[in-house]
Amino acid sequence: MSGKQKHQKCCPRNLNRKPKLGKFADIKILNFVYPISWVKNLQENGQKLYGLAEYHKRKISINIDTPSKLRKTVIVHEICHALSYALDLNLTEHKVRLLSLGLLQAFKINI
Ligand SMILES: [Zn+2]
Repeated sequence: MSGKQKHQKCCPRNLNRKPKLGKFADIKILNFVYPISWVKNLQENGQKLYGLAEYHKRKISINIDTPSKLRKTVIVHEICHALSYALDLNLTEHKVRLLSLGLLQAFKINI
């Protein structure tokens, strides 16, 4: 590690940096690591998907064709699905959509 890297790591300015969800290789959810796979032609039952959370495989897949401006939204959406499974919340698709949009907006404004 160079001196510059050390400085960047401990510099308080970096604590205020927004997380870059779209570039995460792995996401930790409730102490489990979910690798993010960027997949071509992501589908389920013949339907094209932007993202897919597979709780039992502890894996999140994102369609590589997802427009970059939607990637954060899709990742937060899949995190909500994973939490719904893990916490046995049984959230519907509609509720996951609303929750993820609300969380994303709160993160944008506050974090
Ligand atoms: Zn969904």
